[in-house]
Amino acid sequence: MKQYDLIIIGGGQAGLSVAYFLRRSNLDYLILDNQSKPGGSWLQTWDSLKLFSPSEYSSLSGWGMPKTEQEYPSKTAFIAYLTAYENRYDFPIQRDTDVLTVIKENDLFKIETSKGIFYSKALVSATGTARKPFIPNYPDREQFIGEQIHSLHYRNTDDLKNKKVLVVGAGNSGAQILAEVSKDAFAKWVTLEEPNFLADDIDGRHLFAQANDTYFGKTDTVPSSKIALSSIVMVPSVKEARERKVLHAVRPFKSFYKDGVVWDNGDKEPFDAIIWCTGFKANLDHLTALTVIENNQVKTIEESTRSALEPKLWLVGYGNWTGFASATIYGVGKTARQTVKEIQAFFNTELGPL
Ligand SMILES: Cc1cc2nc3c(=O)[nH]c(=O)nc-3n(C[C@H](O)[C@H](O)[C@H](O)COP(=O)(O)OP(=O)(O)OC[C@H]3O[C@@H](n4cnc5c(N)ncnc54)[C@H](O)[C@@H]3O)c2cc1C
Repeated sequence: MKQYDLIIIGGGQAGLSVAYFLRRSNLDYLILDNQSKPGGSWLQTWDSLKLFSPSEYSSLSGWGMPKTEQEYPSKTAFIAYLTAYENRYDFPIQRDTDVLTVIKENDLFKIETSKGIFYSKALVSATGTARKPFIPNYPDREQFIGEQIHSLHYRNTDDLKNKKVLVVGAGNSGAQILAEVSKDAFAKWVTLEEPNFLADDIDGRHLFAQANDTYFGKTDTVPSSKIALSSIVMVPSVKEARERKVLHAVRPFKSFYKDGVVWDNGDKEPFDAIIWCTGFKANLDHLTALTVIENNQVKTIEESTRSALEPKLWLVGYGNWTGFASATIYGVGKTARQTVKEIQAFFNTELGPL
């Protein structure tokens, strides 16, 4: 049975970023990914999705995304870029391989997959969040007989034409899906609080720059709530929805009934479908047996992506707890570079030079 120095679980942008920084190492590593082609979870996003930053700010380390005709690249353009990135660096990736569980055996990781067993001395988990769509708990949700879909499963409005649709969630997904659905259906938007729309001239690139500055204490001119990476970027489709005057959100209902929702004042309103744009949680199920998961996170050493409890395990790309903005295209490179430095040091000092 072959034993690798390092296995990276997940071949999305986070896994590829780690691989990019491994190029000059001598480590014998392999990426395992459960999809049949490149693209990570971008393959499972809705058809019309546009990135919220121009290509320069939607690029991974080393090789920038080629400029696209439209200022905000489509998801198809981004998947093509990820595919070309992977080919350019010829990363070792085994696809169609679902990692089911990881256990420790004689100081090695034993990685049980849909395609057999792999062993490695160290492990990077970069499995993203798309397998764990989050839907908040509303009373009587199971009584609702209409359709309920998470944004993960929303593709386009083909099955929603002229229906009454409730879009739930205040992030970019909620705003973009509302913008699209409201053209073909009677759409209403529900958010916990008033959505935080960015000014028209602030898109992802400014968001990253401002967030960086604030994070590193360079400025206190912009209150942090205004620069949250979850703020809504006014991409063209959202601006267009504003012009149509449909970009209004109301506060949540209190429960469901058979045909729809019950608002706070007791009024009932029927809906044909609910689209939950309510986010995701880290997909860590494969690490359960290592007993390192607490509150759906793995505690990491401060300023590091290394697990505090399992020193041969690193976690990349899940959110701020795995590095500032590491769940974004622009942000993941910084933590990937740091992760590889730590892995390299681990092999040099703790295991002896290769
Ligand atoms: C709708 C939406 C729009 C976004 N727009 C932007 C944007 O414009 N700009 C930006 O910077 N960020 C954006 N993001 C955030 C982020 O860039 C993406 O979520 C990105 O896909 C995260 O990359 P990742 O590599 O961490 O995870 P993923 O892309 O999910 O990659 C993880 C890979 O691991 C695989 N995998 C998972 N579990 C296993 C397993 N057990 N075994 C084997 N393989 C496994 C997955 O199938 C996948 O291929 C957006 C996110 C969403 C949801």
